[in-house]
Amino acid sequence: MSAVVDECVFCRIIGGQIPAEFVLKEAEFVAFPDINPKARVHLLVMPTAHIRSLNDIDSQDAGFGQRMLSFVARAAAVSGVSESGYRVISNNGPDGGQEVDHLHLHVLGGTLLGDLV
Ligand code: 5GP
Ligand code: ZN
Repeated sequence: MSAVVDECVFCRIIGGQIPAEFVLKEAEFVAFPDINPKARVHLLVMPTAHIRSLNDIDSQDAGFGQRMLSFVARAAAVSGVSESGYRVISNNGPDGGQEVDHLHLHVLGGTLLGDLV
């Protein structure tokens, strides 16, 4: 884990230098809409700390994943897709198609999503 990284677009959004409409914003995690939505609801959920990918989660922090997924569920509720359903995707590294090297989960819903997996 590390502090804010100046050249990271998500750190700049979290820091308020780039505008975004936060659906949910807490000390440890934030959720805001993807600029290029792939579904009616398409949120990005991420830690406020600059963690590059799932590979870089602090292995000593056993509760991190639970807290992040709990935050996803609350962001989904705020966006009104808890009951209709949603999909959570995390792209990691080059083969995973990760474009922004700040760990994030895509939360897609609000429409019937096609089969992916
Ligand atoms: P990745 O491919 O890394 O999993 O996804 C990065 C996502 O970040 C893409 O879906 C892209 O549309 C989104 N994104 C990139 N720049 C911005 C931005 O400045 N604002 C917002 N809201 N989303 C962004
Ligand atoms: Zn960052």
